[in-house]
Amino acid sequence: MGPNTSQCENIDELMCDFSRFYILTILYEGPAHGYRIISRFKKQVKKEVSPSLVYPFLQQLEEKGLVTHTVKPVGEKERKIFELTMAGRELCTDLFKRFAKLVSIAIEPSLYVCAHCGCKVYEGGYREVVDGKETAFCCVHCAESYKQAKKAAKVLNARHNST
Ligand SMILES: [Zn+2]
Repeated sequence: MGPNTSQCENIDELMCDFSRFYILTILYEGPAHGYRIISRFKKQVKKEVSPSLVYPFLQQLEEKGLVTHTVKPVGEKERKIFELTMAGRELCTDLFKRFAKLVSIAIEPSLYVCAHCGCKVYEGGYREVVDGKETAFCCVHCAESYKQAKKAAKVLNARHNST
């Protein structure tokens, strides 16, 4: 990469990658000039991002055909407005999908499955003791249906056993 590489080591390197990822999400929201990217970054991540990371990154993206820019007057100055190309948007959607998968792995242990409908419940939900066993449901209605089904199964079994 060149002389900048030494700035991005270990934790910093991770943060650089995160920063790049976040710059992409800002561009995904819509066209923005460099200063806007930097100020949005600061507002949302609560951390400064260096222009020496932002501008070379935008240039790299542009060289790869993922970003284009137009020059527009903003106040008294002319500014480069950066915008994702179609290829750039596709790359983002792909990245977001992969990121979403990672995030779902991270939250998976806190998920439980509704005993009735099988849907995954992240928070809230409904718990009830059924046949002496605490059972998790997504909602009261699922709990009701589950109990009904159990009752029906019992009745069927009882009939079955008595014949
Ligand atoms: Zn359910």
